[in-house]
Amino acid sequence: MATNDNWRMETVAIHAGKEIDPTTGAVMPPLHLSTTYERKADGSYHNGYTYIRGDNPTRRSLEDALCALEGGVCAATFASGMAAIMTVFQALRPGDHVLIPDDIYFGTKVMIDKLFTPWGLSSERVDMTDLAAVAAAVRPNTKMLWIETPSNPLLKITDIAATAEIAHAAGAILACDSTWPSPALQQTLAQGADLAIHATTKYLGGHSDLLGGAVITRQNSPFFDTVRMIQQSGGAVPSPFDCWLLLRGIRTLPYRMRGHCENAQRLADYLSCHPKIEKVYYPGLPSHPGHAIAARQMSGYGGMLSIQLHEDGLRTGEQNARRMANRTKLFVQATSLGGVESLIEHRASIEGAVTNAPANLLRLSVGLEHPDDLIADLKQALTDEVRLE
Ligand SMILES: *Cc1c(COP(=O)(O)O)cnc(C)c1O
Repeated sequence: MATNDNWRMETVAIHAGKEIDPTTGAVMPPLHLSTTYERKADGSYHNGYTYIRGDNPTRRSLEDALCALEGGVCAATFASGMAAIMTVFQALRPGDHVLIPDDIYFGTKVMIDKLFTPWGLSSERVDMTDLAAVAAAVRPNTKMLWIETPSNPLLKITDIAATAEIAHAAGAILACDSTWPSPALQQTLAQGADLAIHATTKYLGGHSDLLGGAVITRQNSPFFDTVRMIQQSGGAVPSPFDCWLLLRGIRTLPYRMRGHCENAQRLADYLSCHPKIEKVYYPGLPSHPGHAIAARQMSGYGGMLSIQLHEDGLRTGEQNARRMANRTKLFVQATSLGGVESLIEHRASIEGAVTNAPANLLRLSVGLEHPDDLIADLKQALTDEVRLE
């Protein structure tokens, strides 16, 4: 279905990339598993599909839906968030220079160091919230600024419009990993970014049961043509079943995001007043250094928050953090984010040596359980009482 420019996010999420199936009248789209498509006597194909790696109807529906949600002209989907990120970096050339954030997602940092630096890419880490530092770091061969906002795990907020201006003045593109806000909370392309990148594994899927990634472009460009070429020739694409599951998740994205934001704000307010908590990182708190920018460029503050725990007479801050993560009953101690269920994790020990996360930090992916139940769980996990089990 062609989306209408006046539709709000809720309507777009439900109708984008969907049409009544012409052969059966099915209201919800079928799952197309065929790897190959018939060629007619004149050599042409029935609907332009030839072979599953190049394109297939389920993936096409997904890409149309993502494009509509993000307000782009084209989307390319991938087998994982990292495959999407890898493709964007592969579309650069050896000898190019990129600026990356100081608290870049650790998987992206590992990939740059282990794969792209030996391949000939040069990169420089900057604090993307310091615009003067960003402008000063740009070089004649800088081809891309890579940002992530809110960032992981410190929830730093980068001004998309301002960094886009710096990138464009230098003839570079701005690519933004928008996984954390999802298109429902942040219209990344409308604010000047050239590419929005998503680990669809997270909020877009929303149910912790699929792996995927996407790159959406604001305009057609030779750069995006290269992204498409790598997608189709390399084939790091999502299976039709994962595309179908992701489309199913997308239908409820705007409503899920409202619940995530509401719950996370309640928890951030609660934890900010708790004597065992040293610091809460959540852009919805007025004390957060990026609060004003987040209020302008996001329509909600998201479902992710990080906390640091105090040391006390009994334990170090790190010991208190690990104790809390071991004692929650509703929050599952596990990595990842964006699902309906709440998760808690000690980032430093997951990321290993490359981590930027303080040792006393826990990251919470706030799910859609009732907020009172979540608060009760955090409260009992933070008591000094020894639990008798
Ligand atoms: C999870 C995540 C990724 C990687 O996505 P995968 O689907 O796990 O490959 C990249 N960026 C951010 C911000 C993420 O949270």
